[in-house]
Amino acid sequence: MTKWVYSFGGGSAEGSRDMRNLLGGKGANLAEMANLGLPVPPGFTISTEACNWFYANGRQMPEGLHEQVAEALAKLEKLQGKTLGGAPMPLLLSVRSGARSSMPGMMDTVLNLGLNDESVQALAESADPRFAYDSYRRFIQMYSDVVLGVEHHDFEAILEQEREARGFETDTQLSAEDWQVVIERFKALVIEVNEGPFPQDPQDQLWGAISAVFSSWMNNRAITYRKLHDIPESWGTAVNVQAMVFGNMGDTSATGVAFTRDPSTGEKALYGEFLVNAQGEDVVAGIRTPQYLTEKARVQAGSDAPSLETLMPESFKEFCAHADRLERHYRDMQDMEFTIERGTLWMLQTRNGKRTTHAALKIATGMAEEGLITQEEAVMRIEPTSLDQLLHPTLDPKAERNVIARGLPASPGAASGEIVFTPDKADLLTKEGHQVILVRMETSPEDIQGMVSSRGILTSRGGMTSHAAVVARGMGKPCVCGAGSLKIDHKAGTMMVLGKVYKEGDVITIDGSTGEVMEGAVAMLQPEVSGDFATLMKWADQARRLGVRANAETPEDARAARDFGAEGIGLCRTEHTFFQDDRIIAMREMIVAEDREARRAALAKLLPLQRHDFFELFKTMRGLPVTIRLLDPPLHEFLPKGEKEIEEVAAAIGTEPSRLRERIIELTEANPMLGSRGCRLLLLHPEITEMQTRAILEAARDAAHQTGEPVIPEIMVPLVGMLPELDKVKEVIDRTAEEVNASSEIKITYTVGTMIELPRAAIRAREIAQSAQFFSFGTNDLTQTTYGISRDDAASFLGHYQEIGLIEKDPFITLDTEGVGALIALAVKEGRVTKPDLKLGICGEHGGDPASIRFCEEAGLDYVSCSPYRVPVARLAAAQAALGKKATS
Ligand code: ADP
Ligand code: MG
Ligand code: MG
Repeated sequence: MTKWVYSFGGGSAEGSRDMRNLLGGKGANLAEMANLGLPVPPGFTISTEACNWFYANGRQMPEGLHEQVAEALAKLEKLQGKTLGGAPMPLLLSVRSGARSSMPGMMDTVLNLGLNDESVQALAESADPRFAYDSYRRFIQMYSDVVLGVEHHDFEAILEQEREARGFETDTQLSAEDWQVVIERFKALVIEVNEGPFPQDPQDQLWGAISAVFSSWMNNRAITYRKLHDIPESWGTAVNVQAMVFGNMGDTSATGVAFTRDPSTGEKALYGEFLVNAQGEDVVAGIRTPQYLTEKARVQAGSDAPSLETLMPESFKEFCAHADRLERHYRDMQDMEFTIERGTLWMLQTRNGKRTTHAALKIATGMAEEGLITQEEAVMRIEPTSLDQLLHPTLDPKAERNVIARGLPASPGAASGEIVFTPDKADLLTKEGHQVILVRMETSPEDIQGMVSSRGILTSRGGMTSHAAVVARGMGKPCVCGAGSLKIDHKAGTMMVLGKVYKEGDVITIDGSTGEVMEGAVAMLQPEVSGDFATLMKWADQARRLGVRANAETPEDARAARDFGAEGIGLCRTEHTFFQDDRIIAMREMIVAEDREARRAALAKLLPLQRHDFFELFKTMRGLPVTIRLLDPPLHEFLPKGEKEIEEVAAAIGTEPSRLRERIIELTEANPMLGSRGCRLLLLHPEITEMQTRAILEAARDAAHQTGEPVIPEIMVPLVGMLPELDKVKEVIDRTAEEVNASSEIKITYTVGTMIELPRAAIRAREIAQSAQFFSFGTNDLTQTTYGISRDDAASFLGHYQEIGLIEKDPFITLDTEGVGALIALAVKEGRVTKPDLKLGICGEHGGDPASIRFCEEAGLDYVSCSPYRVPVARLAAAQAALGKKATS
């Protein structure tokens, strides 16, 4: 017979903290506290397996559960010397849900179970009438809400009427007689809404509550929460049935919550709140203002209400000792719930406390310095992506700001930019070098590209889980959503607020950490890695094996990358520097050139620009490796589009618009992402390779000369599928390099490598490695070509695939280790057969994704490369991957 029920209390327990999967977090920790000898009201836990059985069998209770519950209840009654709902002093119960990982407030709890018209009288006689009737009305209210589906606010409305009729402000002013009136009205409400009267039999009450807790696993709140936090439905919830202790037994009773360290700052000091003469739900419900636990916090907050420290010094001291013990035992910051019943302290819950990233860093480094955990454990404690919160620019608190609207703080960080109303426009303007904020009523999956291009996103509709919010958080972009006072007219291209009209191009600032929308640009502070953050990163660097580089083109990005600890540049996309106004003309001239001579003339104009860019890059990186990818432009991105633009370009490059139009038609490709780009372009036009090699080597020479530090450029050839392609391009590189080196005293050494971004390249890696000194896995293109999908139009069906469970994660965000990863593993193995010391890196979007970084560690790559602001995330993820590997080997 399966064991469904596990007892705890009276100094021992059948469960323990290790049984979280079976008993849920709350149940496992109640058992653990009981084992530690802490004062826990006794009770029993019904396992998550019982919940799963319940759902697998059409919502029926498993066989044997009734008997096991009856047995555990009998034990509990004996231990407490009371009987459920009996006289003279009835045993009352709390029925609490508790999943494997905590889902705060997502499921339901029933307190004071066992009260009925009879037992309430017994309770009133043996304890105190006011307390007894207050407890009964709470029970009716909670039970009816959770089990019978009578709305909580209908009860609150009655309560408010009765309070007002008596001129009372708080519930504590109601007498026993007042509560009896309330109870009669509550019971009448139940009859009115529910099929029958409020259940009087304690056994019916108990089973109603147990089945309601099971059912709550499938309520909308819980389902949404699980989705947001990746919690599988198959985990199920446990049910904890526990003897009640009462914080509402007068002025020597209280209830509260506490953290062993401050959850927002991480400071090592007990932090918490409590209420005198109250039950648990009052603290969260916010009906009364809670008081501070410690004197220090009270004084700091300037509150007059006495602290627990002065009000109940004995209980306070005892609680501090328990808190300290629990933190040492769990070796992590604890979040605890407690109740004091007539001077006796009871512990009701403990768990690892949720905390801000800022606090998490302080707590992890603090605990390591105290010797409670090791430095490696501290490194493992921080969720790499949570660092994102600290890596965004923030508004300078000293800067003036003109707030025009407020919305939800949907994704942290601040951004300023010009208003745009359509994703296409966002894309276009960004390519022209503008900074834009995408302003929409709400966003949808088709808007993704425009969201990627924007600095920040602002919507007038939608909540914290709207498309805009979820996607922006995923991208690490500032987002304010649901700013309802904005009147947005997409057609007219206007946004109205506070009687003023804002048009496209007007500058605004949004703060995704506060939800504020401001007029104009507001001064910002750049994020930096300092203090506890820096300490933790130092420890992470000691633990990691993988190198971390950044993808950067501009000196500003390179500087940010260095400041964030990048050890080089893994990818400089040369075409990205051509989108700015003055350069795009020369670039376009080069692209539409009709013969070699004209192209050379155009390239000659680009040479000094490129040389200057590379020089700045080398100088900024001061001797660290820099990988420069030769031109890889889908040509269409650079071709003029509208009639007006064509005329302008024609004039600028000195040709007829009609001729330019013809040339554009000639160059147009049906699928430009698979067209004449990468090495194909370089083979069609070797003069591009010549110019770029020259620019790179001359810049390296100048930078080496100026800084006195050697510069070793790594020249990377994109989109290679077969060895001869690489060889042909390499010939041109080598020949040009020889020329440059021959003309100067300083000789520059360089390496030539290739991107592996086509399946054929991975398959033929052994051969390609003959001519490549390094491989860099371009996992964006490799994902596209492995799946045979184009990222630009994959959103619609990939979204659907995720919905129907075909794929778990978007393969453009988290590497598809089974498919794309298999090709990478093959290329690693084959490449190293030819060159055991072949340098291997990854430079796709995946280089900053922790799960993908774990794969790179396993695959034995040398480094990952990601956007500058992801560098600390990648450093930490790389450390965790190395430590995780160490732990399992
Ligand atoms: P949640 O998971 O939402 O925190 P809990 O099961 O912890 O729900 O219950 C909510 C509150 O009910 C607790 O904070 C506590 O104050 C109160 N409570 C739960 N069990 C008991 C009990 N046995 N005696 C007194 N109060 C209780
Ligand atoms: Mg709780
Ligand atoms: Mg590519």
